[in-house]
Amino acid sequence: MTTSTCRVGLGYDVHRLVPGRQLVLGGVVVPASFGLEGHSDADVLLHALMDALLGAAGQGDIGVHFSPGEDRWRGVSSLVLLDRVGSLVREQGWQVVNVDCTVVLERPRLLPYVAAMKAAIGPRLALDEQAIGIKATTNEGLGFVGREEGIAAMAVALLGRVAAS
Ligand code: MG
Repeated sequence: MTTSTCRVGLGYDVHRLVPGRQLVLGGVVVPASFGLEGHSDADVLLHALMDALLGAAGQGDIGVHFSPGEDRWRGVSSLVLLDRVGSLVREQGWQVVNVDCTVVLERPRLLPYVAAMKAAIGPRLALDEQAIGIKATTNEGLGFVGREEGIAAMAVALLGRVAAS
């Protein structure tokens, strides 16, 4: 007899907007007059996604695995970190079933870059693009996102395995 097991995880992240930095979202450089402040490339979308994956696998969060105090993570592409998280999840016996992400920002429009983001994320999590959701919404001018002080991102991840019992 086999039983299917699945686990869901949730991730949330915020980074401050600053001039003079590249805006990197979902592993893709998005042309903009501002970027996100942070120790790594500050890819808020991938940070939320990694926290969702780690949460589902019961493996803590990205702060545990990639401490901001460690110099080796300074300026590193978050895709490198996503690679490691994907491996970690697989080592724990999990397969990623699907992920879904929402980025909350006033501008720029992300739709033209979504396909490239899915292409960057998919191979690292062994996911088809149909199993990756990436959506963007504005905050209707409200709050810190509305004042363009920062960008927020949320993600959920579903992991599954078939275990003999
Ligand atoms: Mg972050």
